Amino acid sequence: MKRGIETKCIYGDGAKFDGDKTGSISFPIYQTATFAHPEVGQSTGFDYSRMQNPTRQQLEQVVASLENGVDALAFSSGMAAMTALMELFHPGDHIITDADLYGGSIRLFRSISQKNGITFSHIDCTKEDAESYIQENTKAILIETPTNPMMNVIDIRSMAEIAKRHGLLFIVDNTFLSPYFQKPLTLGADIVLHSGTKFLGGHNDTLAGFLVTGSKELSEKFRYIFKTVGSGLAPFDSWLILRGIKTLPIRMERSQENAQAIVAFLQGERRVRRVCYPGIPGTRSYEICKRQASGFGSMITFEVESKEMALHILKNTKLIPFAESLGGVETLLTYPITQTHADVPADVLQKNGITDRILRLSVGIETKEDLIQDLKQAMDSFEASH
Ligand SMILES: *Cc1c(COP(=O)(O)O)cnc(C)c1O
Repeated sequence: MKRGIETKCIYGDGAKFDGDKTGSISFPIYQTATFAHPEVGQSTGFDYSRMQNPTRQQLEQVVASLENGVDALAFSSGMAAMTALMELFHPGDHIITDADLYGGSIRLFRSISQKNGITFSHIDCTKEDAESYIQENTKAILIETPTNPMMNVIDIRSMAEIAKRHGLLFIVDNTFLSPYFQKPLTLGADIVLHSGTKFLGGHNDTLAGFLVTGSKELSEKFRYIFKTVGSGLAPFDSWLILRGIKTLPIRMERSQENAQAIVAFLQGERRVRRVCYPGIPGTRSYEICKRQASGFGSMITFEVESKEMALHILKNTKLIPFAESLGGVETLLTYPITQTHADVPADVLQKNGITDRILRLSVGIETKEDLIQDLKQAMDSFEASH
């Protein structure tokens, strides 16, 4: 019988590590840099922790099973995973990406990857035809959906078809919905990327990143890059993410429920101009999201009346911290224009509609009435002082 996702979050696909005979329920932390060999030419399967480590391997097994992949590799951060991914490409290669991406990814492409001879077309996959941007040297299409921070939903299946028709790799950053709500490999993606710092870890206590693939050939290439560049996740951090993933389903459900209540509040708020959330019926994003995901997640972007009001809210919430990051049990408010998207060129910001009135909310699992009350008091105090 196939395992349910809640079971997989705790045990993965059931592949057992047989090195521990104590019966420990919590997977042990193998805090070791290296491993003894029985004799020349023999290995326990573990040689050196840059290459293999049992705690990291257990985590990779769980994440691969959640995404229905054949292999997952755990990196020291989401950006470390993205950097390793770029090592698949060569000078002269061209990649098509959606323009509305995590700011750190855009910075990596525009500075480091471009310097290494890789070129990019940053397009709006919800409005433009990606196929018309394909050149002779195009090697991949890379998207994030829902997009960051504007929460537009891109049709994964139709992008996968375009990639397949032209023999391109199709890469999806699945950080925002997590495998609990969306499994891009089952919709035609070749590679899934995660910032494990976010929903997978779920507690804002450590960084991690993943590359997951359904292809043996890509897995071998990634394993080679992984052991060579040396950005694998440390044993203790692997353990923290393993522990976090055990509660992924109940965190995703509760934070989505809270997000839906906050969306309803923001939509009824006269001081809010626009609410971006994939779970708003009647929108294009809603229809696509319903076809390819089992939930809408807990990320909300909203626009208020003025920059002054946005700054006031950031300074005056009493419960919700003003902080970068997302996907944890703590609700966080982010100001994309000076935080996550600070290094994104002005033309891209404008193209994506990221203004100084835009706030991003990552909704956690607190009592929803407390969150709504906190946002409301911050807006009220702005009005009282202006
Ligand atoms: C945070 C984030 C990243 C980068 O991950 P780090 O763990 O911060 O390095 C990449 N993609 C998305 C969508 C993110 O939110």
